[in-house]
Amino acid sequence: MNKEGLLIVVSGFSGAGKGTVMKRLIEKYQSYALSISATTRAPREGEVNGREYFFKTVEEFKEMIARDELIEYAQYVNNFYGTPKHYVEEQLKAGRNVILEIEIQGALKIKEKFPDAVLMFIVPPSAKVLKERLIGRGTESLDVVHARLKRAVEEAEGVEAYDYVVVNDDLETCVEDINEIILSEQKKVAKNLTLINNIRDELKCFSKGE
Ligand code: 5GP
Repeated sequence: MNKEGLLIVVSGFSGAGKGTVMKRLIEKYQSYALSISATTRAPREGEVNGREYFFKTVEEFKEMIARDELIEYAQYVNNFYGTPKHYVEEQLKAGRNVILEIEIQGALKIKEKFPDAVLMFIVPPSAKVLKERLIGRGTESLDVVHARLKRAVEEAEGVEAYDYVVVNDDLETCVEDINEIILSEQKKVAKNLTLINNIRDELKCFSKGE
């Protein structure tokens, strides 16, 4: 029997290293699938359409909303970002744990629509490390870095809505922490009722001497 996968939402301050952590997680374990979002943001150097994001014009993005093709969408620092529905549904049915790397407004919408979703917030070891990583990345103008730091302050306000906080200091440790959380989530009673009921039925038969 193929059990449906878990929906995992991963958020974290811009510069917390979410992208690297997710890449390593899916490289290491086949049980995860990473959803690719649609965005109206311009591609950064090295980003490929259909790999990091599906890059869309505002008109195209609005059409996706109108056709109900997105599970959720949100505006973040002047651009739209949204999760395409089809891939997520297909992967969950195939038993894979689907990761949505999205910001907080989207995370809250997912929790509302899918109460079983596991919400994780990835943080750097300190604010100083975050600022240094953002500036060091060199892909953003100083204005954008400041806009992202301002947004990080706002996002810190919403952390209480998440289920888990994971610190990204050492990459491998962070990946293992996430995998362990998911393994525990999969062991929850509510996720194993079919198995428990089968054993109950069999026990009833055995107790009757069958
Ligand atoms: P970036 O421009 O740095 O790639 O992403 C900016 C923010 O948008 C990040 O916090 C990222 O997690 C978030 N994001 C990416 N895809 C989606 C999405 O499909 N929905 C929502 N709500 N946020 C997203």
